[in-house]
Amino acid sequence: MDRYLAVPSVFDGHNVVFLEGAQYSSLLAEGACQLVLQPEQARKPPTSHIVLVVDRTKRDHWFWEFEPRADLEAFLQAARFAEYDLAAGRLRLAGDLALGAWLESRYQAADVAALPVLDAAAVCRGREEERLGGLYPVRNAVVALQSGPSYLGPFGICGCGEPGCHGGYAWVEGKVCLLFVEILSVGICQVRILPFRITREVLNELSLCETLSPWPTVQPGR
Ligand SMILES: [Zn+2]
Repeated sequence: MDRYLAVPSVFDGHNVVFLEGAQYSSLLAEGACQLVLQPEQARKPPTSHIVLVVDRTKRDHWFWEFEPRADLEAFLQAARFAEYDLAAGRLRLAGDLALGAWLESRYQAADVAALPVLDAAAVCRGREEERLGGLYPVRNAVVALQSGPSYLGPFGICGCGEPGCHGGYAWVEGKVCLLFVEILSVGICQVRILPFRITREVLNELSLCETLSPWPTVQPGR
């Protein structure tokens, strides 16, 4: 079963491999493919046995900050797990679920109570490095989660207030964060799987943060 696939809980940027559409399709069809590293990937090749592979062509541009919800939804459908053989330079598909479906199934089977609770005081001070990349809380996320159990969109923002500088995007169900994607400039810096859960007390504390920021509405090519 896919949900028992043992995957790391944190993927650094170089272990998230964007593939061209044809290569991604052949990986899906054949179950394996040669990994042709782009020049920027060759400088820092994947180091993990299990990597996240992403169909780059699912979006024209992966900007994240302009259409965060659309990028996050596309990422959940366009990413899946693969085993990477560094010596042979080969990828082999691991499991048959896309990331979003895998996370749902993993969440159903998870011992939710065992997940760490987000440290609100640390988030407010930009000190929650381990689970939130040192980002500050985003108002829309806190407000949405105070009125319902689910949220998909921007969750953390750089202290400079510029979402394109450093931002974090979360998918939350039942007050459990299933996925947290951290973007530095326009590149993925980290992807975290089931990193934390949130309680009503955490949300109350976050809503009172002096550092709680809105997510600025920005357009490409300002
Ligand atoms: Zn910044």
